[in-house]
Amino acid sequence: MTAARVLKTPKDLAEAGLVEAEHLGDIGRVAERYAIAITPAMAALIDRNDPNDPIARQFVPDAAELVTTRQERDDPIGDLAHSPVEGIVHRYPDRVLLKAVHVCPVYCRFCFRREMVGPQGLGTLSPEAMDKAFAYIADHPEIWEVILTGGDPLVLSPRRLAEIMERMAKIEHVKIVRFHTRIPVVEPDRIDAWLIAALKASGKTTYVALHANHPRELTDAARAACARLVDAGIVMLSQTVLLRGINDDPETLAVLMRAFVEARIKPYYLHHPDLAPGTSHFRLSIEEGQALVAGLRGRISGLCQPTYILDIPGGHGKAVIGTSAIRGDGKGSYSISDFKGRDHIYPPEGLADEAGIPTA
Ligand code: SF4
Repeated sequence: MTAARVLKTPKDLAEAGLVEAEHLGDIGRVAERYAIAITPAMAALIDRNDPNDPIARQFVPDAAELVTTRQERDDPIGDLAHSPVEGIVHRYPDRVLLKAVHVCPVYCRFCFRREMVGPQGLGTLSPEAMDKAFAYIADHPEIWEVILTGGDPLVLSPRRLAEIMERMAKIEHVKIVRFHTRIPVVEPDRIDAWLIAALKASGKTTYVALHANHPRELTDAARAACARLVDAGIVMLSQTVLLRGINDDPETLAVLMRAFVEARIKPYYLHHPDLAPGTSHFRLSIEEGQALVAGLRGRISGLCQPTYILDIPGGHGKAVIGTSAIRGDGKGSYSISDFKGRDHIYPPEGLADEAGIPTA
């Protein structure tokens, strides 16, 4: 059955054939705490005959969300520790997050901001809070990039987005405006000429980072929406969350990264899943993630390689956590693994002096 509207309640999910009646009690308890939304495009992608469908697992609530482990926390990446004014997160010197809205077109069951987004979340910034957020950006000349995230900023109307970009255009030191979104995949028809025009501003370069986790999300309609953005001069990047049972195998990741590149989207981040409450069933170990990422190295083009990162809990920022191909002996000699996992000495043995590398 294909839904014609956004599914938002356990009853909607049951009527759409996505939740069995016997599970409605548990799903109701999940819904009391975490928001639900599945767009028609995503509901149509779900294979009702596959109990492990990777699209369903991303969006259909599960009783496992009722289990919160001791490691998990409401603000897993520590946004609040770096929020000087409402709506701004200033964690790194040259860039800030601007969280204009805490609403999403879909609610991902593994969301790292699940305590902040949704109807019971932090809502949309008031005009006064938006003024203060822009005043903060204008007062900090070191801010080179503003990243609109949330929530999904592209749920805002083209008129609201254009207002934001007009204000951005007046701040000389901001050069890059980046939007983090799922809209091109989950609601591709929204990417129309008005919205695209609203994302552009004089003197600013616009990036759109698309969040997608499984190759099936890149439907013809999604690819067409991305093509409209790229054809308009917007640079696209990807971000993917590494998720158990959804994309934690080399073939799925390889197909996904290639699909991004074919759609003119440069693979950017592969996130290790954050310690968000009720998400332990999605997490894999860092060692498992490293093995998957190392496997991509020999398998697919360099263009397709994402950077495997972890947001360090407590607000300490992102760290690259893939394995390194190089190990030094501290004396100017290195062992370097090639893409087949074979080790080689650099510089070739006995030639360290000729390579100009000190040996002591
Ligand atoms: S789109 Fe992003 S912010 Fe929204 S629910 Fe999904 S992960 Fe969370």
